[in-house]
Amino acid sequence: MSIAQPFWFEQALAQERASQGNTLQGKTSTDVCIIGGGYTGLWTAIKLKQQAPEKDVVIIDKGLCGQGASGRNGGCMLTLSTKFATLVRLFGQTEAIRLVKASEQAVFDIADFCTQHKIDADIRLDGALYTATNSVQKANLQNPLAALTMAGINQWQVKDSEFVQHYSGSALNQQGIFTAAAGSLQPAKLVRGLARVARQLGVRIFENTPMTTIAYGNVVKVTTPSGEVHAPRLVLAMNAWMAKALKPFSRSIVLVSSDMLITKPMPEALAAMHLNHGMAVADSRIFVHYYRSTPDGRLMLGKGGNLFAYGNKMLSLFDKKSAYQGMLKQSFERFFPSLTPDFERSWTGASDRSVTGVPFFGRLEGQNNVCYGLGYSGNGVVQSYLGGDILSSLVLEQDNEWTRSGMAKGSRGNFPFEPFRTLGANIVRKSVLRKEAMEDKEQKAFWFDNQLAKLASAAGKADK
Ligand SMILES: Cc1cc2nc3c(=O)[nH]c(=O)nc-3n(C[C@H](O)[C@H](O)[C@H](O)COP(=O)(O)OP(=O)(O)OC[C@H]3O[C@@H](n4cnc5c(N)ncnc54)[C@H](O)[C@@H]3O)c2cc1C
Repeated sequence: MSIAQPFWFEQALAQERASQGNTLQGKTSTDVCIIGGGYTGLWTAIKLKQQAPEKDVVIIDKGLCGQGASGRNGGCMLTLSTKFATLVRLFGQTEAIRLVKASEQAVFDIADFCTQHKIDADIRLDGALYTATNSVQKANLQNPLAALTMAGINQWQVKDSEFVQHYSGSALNQQGIFTAAAGSLQPAKLVRGLARVARQLGVRIFENTPMTTIAYGNVVKVTTPSGEVHAPRLVLAMNAWMAKALKPFSRSIVLVSSDMLITKPMPEALAAMHLNHGMAVADSRIFVHYYRSTPDGRLMLGKGGNLFAYGNKMLSLFDKKSAYQGMLKQSFERFFPSLTPDFERSWTGASDRSVTGVPFFGRLEGQNNVCYGLGYSGNGVVQSYLGGDILSSLVLEQDNEWTRSGMAKGSRGNFPFEPFRTLGANIVRKSVLRKEAMEDKEQKAFWFDNQLAKLASAAGKADK
């Protein structure tokens, strides 16, 4: 199997005029060093510069900014609203309401930011449609809405099969819930655009500059193969790489693949199916199918939960074409039996799944000047914007709604030690697959598969 550049990333790099990869050579001092140039690191840097332009900020990335999840994700702009019940359990009703509203606002703020800074990220704020493709999914589809309605913040509308099939382009989708506070974008164009804006604001970005060691202290020393960064403040924004590289995070996330397949352009065929909009569509499986079209008439379909990484190792498989391409093609056929697309490419990537399904931020224990954020659980396109608010507020030692938020108080649970973690994950995964296959055939799933599947869906709506 050959290395497969994620399609989006290649597309975004092809549009850039500036050369990439300014590597750090020698020693440098700065006010804030950020390790990781994905959405989390870049939004943090931008928000720091917006609030405190006098601060010098350095970002280092081991490859090119956006080469991680930010440059290869599905580009579905989704909010925290379907996780409301989990947020209430973790942080209380008032903070849960605030977080849901902030995430919904963030959808529009990201679009505004891109307009203002001329980032052409193909953003289409056409909403999101969560669908049910069988009776069990139908029965559970509206579960998240009751609590949102009681709290007076429900933006979801229940939609009948006519609406759902019209907009989703698939007769497989029998019912749905729709929100306008959502949409889709080209993820790599966003992250590369953020890197450009960060540079324009004065952030010094060094690509192809991996952190090799960190020496903590009042002034943190970050070593790279050919240089050092000295900074009184450090932000760890390495996402999926953090669990293996840094012991405190070894059990707070698991790495799970999300696999994607994209067609060549077929705008006429998509228009005929009314699939020429930017709505993000997802079914209600635990390991969800998600799909959307692109402005140039491609159809992308993804599926989460296929490959678990033992010991959170960043497997080379995460950088190759999807090992689940055959399964993705079958899903394509199930959703769109009348289409006979030419496929452009498949790829995959590691999602950082937290115990709660909700991201977490905080200060490293015993190192007050080191902040971190991760655990987006496949829902990071919009939530990383909030991550930028939290991390910039922590760095600037502000006393505000972000630093007081329960989300800024660290991880809310650990996964088991290996080998039990991977063993357990694979048992649960097989149960979920068996249960969902039975449900697709409108058959009753086995009792034990239902019980084990509850472990995977404990955090509420499934993730990419
Ligand atoms: C295939 C896939 C599909 C997804 N689909 C969606 C979706 O449709 N909607 C959604 O909301 N979310 C989705 N997500 C999740 C979303 O992409 C992530 O939550 C988000 O991109 C996380 O951003 P980040 O900046 O924290 O991490 P990343 O973008 O992964 O950035 C981390 C960066 O750290 C760098 N790094 C790592 N180690 C080092 C080191 N030692 N030294 C220097 N740099 C280092 C990496 O090179 C990388 O650039 C998906 C994720 C995947 C993998």
